[in-house]
Amino acid sequence: MSGSHLSTSSVPGSSVPGSSGPGSSGPGSSGPGLPQPLFRLGDAGPAVAEIQGKLARLGLLASPMEASVPDLSARFDDACDRAVRSFQQQRGLSVDGVVGPATYRALDEARWRLGDRILAFSVTHPLIGDDVAALQRRLLELGFAAGRVDGVLGADTERAVRDFQRNVGLRPDGTCGPSTFKALDRLARTVVGGRAGDLRESEGLRAAGPRLPGKVVVIDPGHGGDDPGQEGHGLRESVLVHDLATRVEGRLTATGVAAYLTRGAEGYLDNAERAGFANSTNADVVISLHVDGSPSHRPNGVAAYYFGAGGDGRSAAGERFAGLVQREIVARTDLLDGRTHPKTWDLLRYTRMPAVHLELGYVTNPGDAARLASPEFRDVVAEAIVVSVQRLYLPDELDSPTGVLQLSHLTV
Ligand SMILES: [Zn+2]
Repeated sequence: MSGSHLSTSSVPGSSVPGSSGPGSSGPGSSGPGLPQPLFRLGDAGPAVAEIQGKLARLGLLASPMEASVPDLSARFDDACDRAVRSFQQQRGLSVDGVVGPATYRALDEARWRLGDRILAFSVTHPLIGDDVAALQRRLLELGFAAGRVDGVLGADTERAVRDFQRNVGLRPDGTCGPSTFKALDRLARTVVGGRAGDLRESEGLRAAGPRLPGKVVVIDPGHGGDDPGQEGHGLRESVLVHDLATRVEGRLTATGVAAYLTRGAEGYLDNAERAGFANSTNADVVISLHVDGSPSHRPNGVAAYYFGAGGDGRSAAGERFAGLVQREIVARTDLLDGRTHPKTWDLLRYTRMPAVHLELGYVTNPGDAARLASPEFRDVVAEAIVVSVQRLYLPDELDSPTGVLQLSHLTV
């Protein structure tokens, strides 16, 4: 829904300017100063009134009386607790009903709608908010390289604004004022009308068109931070999958795809937060990278997982994507085919686009570990993944048999 939480320091390794510390919510954008906000059920006072006002503006809480003087009697009641939790859920924040620094910052950023304020680039105090995320999303939809949808007005976004202004015959000053908003609004609606409405459906994939440039792919290296994942034969899952993610990212970028990693080399997010990240970028697909492990050295092979709860609760496009990736990897490597399986894991469930979770061999198996230790092998796997992203969008008549499509064919 929004990229606001991407700008918080909870995305370690991201190179978002002002991602922590002073200026993170822009000068003067946080209303009354609250150095260490921490509010929960039972609290009362003017700060609670302010939080309720923000929730009300987001439509999550019945509107309190517009108080022009600080309302000392505002109470953080059950309704407020529910509203905070549903806000946290929407934003991929930890859902605890407590307005701590991350939730407070996200609430502050969420109040901005595109057009509410002039958007101009500042090196020292970058503007942050949902309006910036909306601007970035529209620019990306229109094919301008606005960088990641992180809600932070950085140099990439400013450059994309200038390109856009030049394209529509406006003065390319990089500042979004009324005339730029008007042009964005007019063009974005045209483009969105032609986009896939429901990417969970295979028809939506067709509607998205076969071309990779302009598509957005989120690559999720599993684990990280204090969570190493599986370990064996001198390999650590969190490190291995991050390496693999950068190989996939490089290849996708070369084909014109906007590729984003959910975490840096050191960072950690829980899986709901990773899904929230993907949703906030409006990604076309999400690929979560893992390797498996077992107390026994025998289990080996690759498996792909997609969202499915049995019965009709499944992602058809996710299933198709998982099948494509699985077949490409099996065709290009000698990993054992562990097939595809439906799961309701958080990342698969909370993402709004086709998502696949890959378990790329067992680090506890000597054969798989030797393969995974080889950079050439990891290149082959990365290539298989990128080819399957392309195949996901190719109509049947343009598709190639498994294992033969080359990356050089995809490069724009
Ligand atoms: Zn894992």
